[in-house]
Amino acid sequence: MPTIHWFRRDLRLADNPSLLAAVEAARADDGLVVPLFVVDPVLSATAGAPRLAYLTHSLRALDESLGGRLVVRHGRPRDVVPAVASEVGASQVHVTAATEPYGRRRDEGLSLVRTGSPYAVAPGRLLTRGGTPFQVFTPFRRAWLDHGWAPPAPRPTGSPWAHLRSDSIPVPPATDVRLPPAGEAAALRRWQEFLRDGLARYATDRDRPDLDGTSRLSVPLKYGELHPRTLLAGLPASADVFRSELAWREFHADVLWHHPTAAHTSLRDVVPDDAWAAGRAELAAFAAWAEGRTGYPIVDAGMRQLRALGWMHNRVRMVVASFLVKDLHVRWQRGAEHFMAWLVDADVSQNQLNWQWVAGTGRDAAPYFRVFNPVTQGRTFDPSGSYVRQWVPELRGVDGVAVHEPWRLRTPPDGYPAPIVDHAVERKVALDDFHRARD
Ligand SMILES: Cc1cc2nc3c(=O)[nH]c(=O)nc-3n(C[C@H](O)[C@H](O)[C@H](O)COP(=O)(O)OP(=O)(O)OC[C@H]3O[C@@H](n4cnc5c(N)ncnc54)[C@H](O)[C@@H]3O)c2cc1C
Repeated sequence: MPTIHWFRRDLRLADNPSLLAAVEAARADDGLVVPLFVVDPVLSATAGAPRLAYLTHSLRALDESLGGRLVVRHGRPRDVVPAVASEVGASQVHVTAATEPYGRRRDEGLSLVRTGSPYAVAPGRLLTRGGTPFQVFTPFRRAWLDHGWAPPAPRPTGSPWAHLRSDSIPVPPATDVRLPPAGEAAALRRWQEFLRDGLARYATDRDRPDLDGTSRLSVPLKYGELHPRTLLAGLPASADVFRSELAWREFHADVLWHHPTAAHTSLRDVVPDDAWAAGRAELAAFAAWAEGRTGYPIVDAGMRQLRALGWMHNRVRMVVASFLVKDLHVRWQRGAEHFMAWLVDADVSQNQLNWQWVAGTGRDAAPYFRVFNPVTQGRTFDPSGSYVRQWVPELRGVDGVAVHEPWRLRTPPDGYPAPIVDHAVERKVALDDFHRARD
């Protein structure tokens, strides 16, 4: 009797407890495993082209590692999964549990064997001593470390994959985004490379967008080409800063588990409703931000890096998000939507909760009154200006840190816009709005 393993956000063979459970159940019955991927029209319609293109490359890599046996079917999972199960007479459909709002809704009512989640500790599992969800990161991280996690699961041995008709892997949509190499093997290579060359410098370099100082593993983590357990098992005890970043990923997933509406709605309101830009003013501000022509070099560099790579450095994500919300007074949801369209690592829990963190509306968020100054941020974290020069060609002729304030140059660079707003003025507007909500 065969079993099915339905791949979703776990596009790997190693350290995949659900896949292993499917293989073991099939072997106990002298059967094979159907490795299934369902191309869900709901996700295809909502994911941006960079994500869809990356997914198709990742599926090809997965198919290769399965010896060409990946079974792809197009359609609504609620129709396709039971249909494949009855086509092959499968006794069980194994999955890694979905923890985000759409995945949870999609899986409702389907008969599934859930093993593990995309996190080291499943969202929802940790509670405070009082039995309530964690509101604050530091105690969450402590509880997460105390709880611990299982060691990585072994890769299934042999080739227990059934042979079944498959639809084709979708053709990747056209995109100008330069995608990173996809698939489990590429992810493991990147991880080894980072362990060897990056980890020792991570705590000092991670905030520097001008250096290659971070792991770039958010993409494989998003698609489950790597599981965080694999990373945690390979980390030396001294790697607290990197471990903490993984804990943030788990914290955001936990917050979304308890508050699914946080995908769209602020967890708390910080300014009156009339504080937000509306109509044409909002459209114009948003377009300048999205296209990287605000006249603030670090903001524009980040927005252009996003369009070129489908990825942006974390420090710059914070700066551009703060600029949109607090300098341009555009709601965080608009920015989050843009990120979802362009980021290859776009992930509803990480994206929406990080936006809420910057906007001051989330759990344990940056206070609303802490407004990032784009010039100070640029001077501090891109001290030679090389990040800006890399992404904003109009500023390539400006040497050194002066690149962060082109409006102070005797001859303003050709073709680069003047600042669309005055940061000092807009900061005050944001703070007044914040105080108004408290009066
Ligand atoms: C406005 C905004 C939106 C974001 N949207 C996303 C998103 O859609 N998807 C996403 O994966 N990350 C998101 N992040 C978090 C973070 O920017 C990226 O995870 C990180 O830049 C990825 O690069 P890296 O893998 O080189 O990170 P590293 O610095 O190497 O970190 C290692 C891993 O830790 C985790 N991590 C690091 N920083 C954070 C963080 N602030 N929150 C949660 N996890 C973190 C990621 O899984 C990352 O891969 C967002 C941050 C901000 C401020």
